Amino acid sequence: MSTVRRLGPSSENTRSAILDMVRSSGTVSRIELSEMSGLTPTSITRIVKSLIEDRLVVETGFSDSTGGKRRSLIELNPHARYAVGISLDDARLTYVVADLGGTVVGHHISAGIAGTPPSDVVLRIGDELEGLFLDLEIPTSDIVGIGVAGAGLDLSAGAERISLTSDDWDTFAVQEALETRMGLPVVRDNDAACAALGNFWAGRLSASQDFATLYMSNGFGLGLMIGGSVSRGSSSNVGEIGHMTLDIGGPACWCGSRGCLEILAGPRAIVGSAMADPALARDLGLSGDDAHLRHNFDMIARSAAGGDRRSAQLIERSAAYVAAAVLSVVNLLDLGRIYLAGPGFADAGDFYLRAITDRVARFARTKSVHGVEITLSDPGLDAAAVGAASLALQHVLTPHTRAERGV
Ligand SMILES: [Zn+2]
Repeated sequence: MSTVRRLGPSSENTRSAILDMVRSSGTVSRIELSEMSGLTPTSITRIVKSLIEDRLVVETGFSDSTGGKRRSLIELNPHARYAVGISLDDARLTYVVADLGGTVVGHHISAGIAGTPPSDVVLRIGDELEGLFLDLEIPTSDIVGIGVAGAGLDLSAGAERISLTSDDWDTFAVQEALETRMGLPVVRDNDAACAALGNFWAGRLSASQDFATLYMSNGFGLGLMIGGSVSRGSSSNVGEIGHMTLDIGGPACWCGSRGCLEILAGPRAIVGSAMADPALARDLGLSGDDAHLRHNFDMIARSAAGGDRRSAQLIERSAAYVAAAVLSVVNLLDLGRIYLAGPGFADAGDFYLRAITDRVARFARTKSVHGVEITLSDPGLDAAAVGAASLALQHVLTPHTRAERGV
């Protein structure tokens, strides 16, 4: 059953809300749009006319006659506009180009941002984007905007710890710099929130399916999708699961607390443990320094996936802590679904998938009421970049992060 949305005819969002109804309906008639939106047929006809003039929707024929007059049908023209999503990460930059329907039409991966000043990264992003648009034969005028996903706390001027190798990002306004370079609107959000949005978008989930996305890059973040909207908190910094305390007498964390998930089980902790085993460090060629942290972690993850017992034990220990943290989140929020996303899960994601699935199946308080589906996102296509692209698509479609839901 579709939800009836009561929309005011003068609302600024009305046109984009109607466009989003067309998108989610597939093929739809004007009368159905009128019924779904609560707007008069005259208002719908006027809005649809303007959407057709802008190539955003197209007429596709007529419905079968059911006794009355045949209705002309319209549907989204997905190739009318495109949006870009970029995931900023120390180990790699992921670009995604999505069409209006949310289908990824192109993606590109290049070197990460570790060790590079932010202003140089922005110049490189500009060059790489122009190359990508050329390859895809998409004119820049058809791009509605760029979404940028990055780790760390959202500060007013930048983002704390977006990179482990450069504090410059803490005070760098990447949004403004990229807008100036590209001449396009840019939106920025936390990588975990973007990844949840990307899972929501790509999974074609309904708004009633609450879920969380655990995102792993340099550390851990949790994106929460509740009632079809990304949960934001007081300052858009929801989901700092990396600093959930799992051992109050545990090792000191850089955040000031002790025994946090990140200090016990994050990439830096795993690399630290591997460095304590000289034979393993030598066999894998680990350097142990921050500049190569993620490369070192990837080497351990790959060796674990390849069957090395010493590496596998380190990853299994990390996965056990992560599973404990995820179980707490499932219990707190009564979630039905968890996604694992981000470059940290690319090589050894199966270890984490197994540990979390097992722990949640055994100990979730709701286990006799409903199951919890744990899914590893496609590691080749960063969900944060997909979500960042869908953020940018909000420019023309109804915001998925703001509830505009039924009455
Ligand atoms: Zn901490």
